[in-house]
Amino acid sequence: MKIAVLPGDGIGPEIIEQAKRVLDALRSDGLPIEMEEAPLGGAAYDQYGQPYPEVTQKLAREADAILLGAVGGPQYDTLDRPLRPERGLLAIRKDLNLFANLRPAILYPELANASTLKPEVVAGLDILIVRELTGDIYFGQPRGVEVRDGERFGFNTMHYTESEIRRIGRVAFEAAMKRNKRVCSVDKMNVLETTQLWRDVMTELAPEYPEVELTHMLVDNAAMQLVKAPKQFDVMVTGNMFGDILSDEASMLTGSIGMLPSASLDANNKGLYEPSHGSAPDIAGKGVANPLATILSAAMMLRYTFNQEQAAQRVENAVKAVLAQGLRTGDIYEPGTKRVGTREMGDAVLAAL
Ligand code: NAD
Repeated sequence: MKIAVLPGDGIGPEIIEQAKRVLDALRSDGLPIEMEEAPLGGAAYDQYGQPYPEVTQKLAREADAILLGAVGGPQYDTLDRPLRPERGLLAIRKDLNLFANLRPAILYPELANASTLKPEVVAGLDILIVRELTGDIYFGQPRGVEVRDGERFGFNTMHYTESEIRRIGRVAFEAAMKRNKRVCSVDKMNVLETTQLWRDVMTELAPEYPEVELTHMLVDNAAMQLVKAPKQFDVMVTGNMFGDILSDEASMLTGSIGMLPSASLDANNKGLYEPSHGSAPDIAGKGVANPLATILSAAMMLRYTFNQEQAAQRVENAVKAVLAQGLRTGDIYEPGTKRVGTREMGDAVLAAL
């Protein structure tokens, strides 16, 4: 279990440290975990003059999985675009062919007040959005803005091949097998032919997973249902553009960015695991960042890359336990709970583990 650890910038190193302690504890209990660190983003620019240097490329390519903190910071905002930290992130995703983005939106009952929705609508929410990450209108050619008939004309192209749809479909069905065995495929087949193909291929794939129930939903309805009755969903699978929008919508149902992990997988379940939030320069170095999204990203790594369901649940249960004990970092603090820093939160997760 070879893990490349890329702490990155801002709060990255602080939150990664706590996830490493959790993985170290699992190694002590017998998992053959090896970790090696390399810089990415601003930290890599400072050391090597580029955001995804060769040392990091080599480590990331050789590893089975990558655990990333976050990248970016105001000191890098004036660099030429190719040198900026965010380019390092795009480069590593592309380099490793990470085509499947998995974003769970989980709202622990103890944090139900953090959501802007009524607690009864969201408490206990546990959905997983599977978004295709390398195709669709975001990458389709031709694209551009040109002058036609004396006025500016903008155009993009939506396309998917059936093999692209099938491989993201498999990721969704397989994820559902590890969860509640329901997949809702989201499209716009009433208007867009590409997404009619999407629906057809998903339907053709379903018999390979007889235990999983497949349903379809139009994207406009899916956007409504996510705020109306989000608990009806288990796994949602959709294309790049719809997934971009719906996964942000779903993550905001929980109201607590410091709690949300994510995974980006290739065709062999090699994955990049990272919290959904950024490098939070406003609180970097203060020891107050919430490490739980990063710890939960490590749990996703155990589940999706290493097939260690039991270890993944052990980590997730430890996180639930510290929330039940009333421990909160500043971002999820409410009166009546105990405010702790990054390291104390890590200590509590280790104790619960
Ligand atoms: P952000 O997610 O870093 O921060 C938004 C707000 O949430 C801030 O107030 C921050 O303090 C808070 N926050 C975020 N994570 C937290 C945590 N773990 N614990 C407690 N509070 C937390 O988004 P931003 O401010 O828009 O961006 C800051 C930098 O991060 C930028 O340079 C941006 O480009 C970068 N960024 C990186 C990634 C990534 O690495 N994947 C993603 C988004 C933004």
